[in-house]
Amino acid sequence: MIQGRALAFIFESSPARVVFGMGSLARASEEIDSLGAKRVLILTTPGRQRLGDEMATRLGAKVVGVFAHAVMHVPVETAEAGRNATALASADLLMAIGGGSAVGLAKAIAAVTGLPILAVPTTYSGSEMTSTWGLTEHGIKKTMRDHRVRPKTVLYDPLLTLSLPAKLSATSGMNAMAHCVEALYAYDANPISSLVAEEGIRSLAKALPMVVRDPSDVEARSLALYGAWLGGISLGATTTALHHKLCHVLGGAFDLPHSDTHTVLLPHVTAYNAAGAPQAMARIGQALSPNGVTQSAARLLYDLEASMKTPLSLESLGMNRDGIDRAAAWVMEKPFHNPGALTREGLRALLEDAFEGRPPRI
Ligand code: NAD
Repeated sequence: MIQGRALAFIFESSPARVVFGMGSLARASEEIDSLGAKRVLILTTPGRQRLGDEMATRLGAKVVGVFAHAVMHVPVETAEAGRNATALASADLLMAIGGGSAVGLAKAIAAVTGLPILAVPTTYSGSEMTSTWGLTEHGIKKTMRDHRVRPKTVLYDPLLTLSLPAKLSATSGMNAMAHCVEALYAYDANPISSLVAEEGIRSLAKALPMVVRDPSDVEARSLALYGAWLGGISLGATTTALHHKLCHVLGGAFDLPHSDTHTVLLPHVTAYNAAGAPQAMARIGQALSPNGVTQSAARLLYDLEASMKTPLSLESLGMNRDGIDRAAAWVMEKPFHNPGALTREGLRALLEDAFEGRPPRI
């Protein structure tokens, strides 16, 4: 329910075509045809190469190559190599199969070539629903927005996520959760993006513990992927705040794993923003705890993570304590919208808690 102010918002709907359901990968050939493509280049990570090769065999003459060199954060060299492979193969469609790294590489190629993307996500990152793309050079990641890089068609097949290990499923799912949480207190949230974000939180909170208990549970996998899709829409529809900023800074500066960093920071940033966004917190709390809210939203997130045995401290991810002060200073360098007032001391305290893995400060 919207309360407390007269409605005023901008709403843009995502133009992507989404095909969701178990076995939907089997529709790849007709989806390629409906995009008018004849020469498909498959992009994936080394870890998903077998899936890429199987897809190439299945699609036969439509596929002109498999480029399985995608890595996290799209180094400029990888983007360059991907563009060369695209030109050499005279590809007319980029088919990204994998997590955010495969989709990120496709976007970096599409940004220059203008080629359309068909995405087949196998994690819960949500990148396939956004127009944000990034490039990393000399350890610094720059992100840009360009509507042309948003995939034209997305095939969500929960069967492809069955192989995602329990720990990565939990952290990747919390990455999607973070998109929903920040969307609810975004300065440019609108009634539709908030409904989507709430439903995303509800779905993920229900599905992720079930996935961790039994990674082969197809119904739970389906609900988790549905939540991830909603997370992607939420991310693409709004402007992120402190949480994504901190993850970006820590990931880039200390080379921390992407979804783990999101997982560790989310309860702490939620606590930090609680006083500045009470209505969003109430909605997050209700979505996390449909049978009645007994804890703060931040504590509910922390307890959910603890129950899934995800990493809870930045120290366990390999960060050094002396990075805390530098990270707090970097976040303060350029002002951005955030519901909680940003102070260096406040950020330092947040990062101390996250470093130690303590419960969030309420
Ligand atoms: P990822 O794509 O790097 O995948 C992580 C690992 O899991 C890889 O080794 C991959 O091979 C493996 N994997 C993927 N799917 C699997 C499956 N089903 N079974 C077994 N293994 C599997 O990780 P990610 O977290 O999905 O993506 C992270 C990247 O995406 C980062 O670079 C991040 O910045 C970017 N990202 C971008 C956006 C955006 O909107 N632009 C949003 C979210 C994430």
